[in-house]
Amino acid sequence: MAKSSVSLTNQIKALQDQRRALLAKLRHGDPIVVGYVYDVMRRCGNPSCHCAAKPAHRQTLLIYVEKGRRRCKFIRGADAARIKQAWQRYRDCKKALHGFRALQKRELQILRAQIQARRISYE
Ligand SMILES: [Zn+2]
Repeated sequence: MAKSSVSLTNQIKALQDQRRALLAKLRHGDPIVVGYVYDVMRRCGNPSCHCAAKPAHRQTLLIYVEKGRRRCKFIRGADAARIKQAWQRYRDCKKALHGFRALQKRELQILRAQIQARRISYE
């Protein structure tokens, strides 16, 4: 086997290791919130509260799509940390999917190079 194709094979093996690491991230199985979660400042409605001048109560908002329609929900304070963690897992999964795409692209480049390296000329 030519030296260049050995190193290409090692590159493929390295990519497979990276793929396994990404799969492990996707496999943990903890709950996921799909959508977008962020904090907003709100008024509580009490006219004597300091928020009457400027919205001052932090509240967590969840934006998601259900049956093709965009939905919006306020998250109770007691649930905010749990929902944010579940949303972070969603972001991690999306990042892992992007990683898979990048790995696959790299793998195809290496395989194409491997094919080209085996090319012979016939005269
Ligand atoms: Zn208030």
